[in-house]
Amino acid sequence: MLRRVPADDMYVVQTVETGKDIRLPAEVPREYAALRSGDPHHAAQWIRVATNDAHLHHLFLSRRPDISIGFKEFRELVPGVSDPGNNLGVVVTHDPDLPPELMEAGAPEFAGWAVRRDGVEPLPIEIEPEVLGLAQLTGKWPIEQLAANSILVVGCGSIGSAAAEALAGYGVGRVELVDPDRFLWHNMLRHTLGPESVGRFKVAAMKDHLAQHWPQQTVVAHRRDVVAEAHYIRPIVDRVDLVLCAADGIAPRRVVSHLSRRARKPAILACVLDNGSIGEVIRLRPTPRFGCLLCLRQQLADQGAMDAEADQELDYGTGRVHQPMTAVPPDLRYVGTFAAKVAIATLLESLHGDHTQQVPGEHAIIGLRPAGDLADPFDLSHAGDVRWSSIPRPRASCPTCSPA
Ligand SMILES: [Zn+2]
Repeated sequence: MLRRVPADDMYVVQTVETGKDIRLPAEVPREYAALRSGDPHHAAQWIRVATNDAHLHHLFLSRRPDISIGFKEFRELVPGVSDPGNNLGVVVTHDPDLPPELMEAGAPEFAGWAVRRDGVEPLPIEIEPEVLGLAQLTGKWPIEQLAANSILVVGCGSIGSAAAEALAGYGVGRVELVDPDRFLWHNMLRHTLGPESVGRFKVAAMKDHLAQHWPQQTVVAHRRDVVAEAHYIRPIVDRVDLVLCAADGIAPRRVVSHLSRRARKPAILACVLDNGSIGEVIRLRPTPRFGCLLCLRQQLADQGAMDAEADQELDYGTGRVHQPMTAVPPDLRYVGTFAAKVAIATLLESLHGDHTQQVPGEHAIIGLRPAGDLADPFDLSHAGDVRWSSIPRPRASCPTCSPA
């Protein structure tokens, strides 16, 4: 039996008769609202065909929409098909013995037919595959390896939510989210979350959002402030493989730089600067070759570059008033996704030896709406430009890099 859904001009299988008087209902999950609506009880026929000819015809007819096949001719091809009378008959044929070369040519194992007395036409038919989700990438992307990895995401704003979503899509097994704030109306324009989440804590709403789309991933929500509750964050940094910080403001970024260095974990810091004209992604790796956030900023200050940390806070020093995000939503998602890519590439290269995932440096500047009026290395002149450079070695006097 089928259910007809007029709005989408489609039929959805409702029950299948698998033997005499054996009817199995097709369970359609609640969230597939469009597949559950419509008028039920349209009879359909389900026929196992004896020869491959029927499905070869289906392939041919599907490619020649101007041609149909007569009902008499169809009945010879598919014996047992009922006469539809003056109505439309829906028939599904199954050819379990279809040779691989015909399948490769595009002939289907299951074929749908719209049967009328004055002609029979092929119906496109869509069958839920046995394997859904990231498991479909098995053999093409290291999903087993990444499923064993974990990442802490600090900050679930516009960049952090985009990064978290991308990490889920890459197949990271566990993501721990840290953010103290509620999701409010003014956040919505630039965020992955929608009006259903207004008023909720960002971490809890993001956890639900991710669980809906990426059920294989474990998400842990921590409604915490990375600065005020650093003692709570420290053990999380210890147990994850990498930290991705998308929190804005000077203090959270410094705390992440410090805690990840001490825990000997790589950290990726993402933000937009200069009113959203450029994006910046920094990779901090706890090796003698690379310093921390403070070491990088000191070097840039010595060169006369923009004070990128202060640029993120209007009321520099108080940590209270943040620069309003002026970047447009897709630019922020682009930076968040970019940061997630760098995070995944770092894990794949360092933990799994995948050298196709080497990134060109440690410090990326991304052109969003660059005016070209900033000092090196922020002086990009084109949207879409990505400039990579390294970061300096640890300073001898650095409180983060030098062992206590
Ligand atoms: Zn340092």
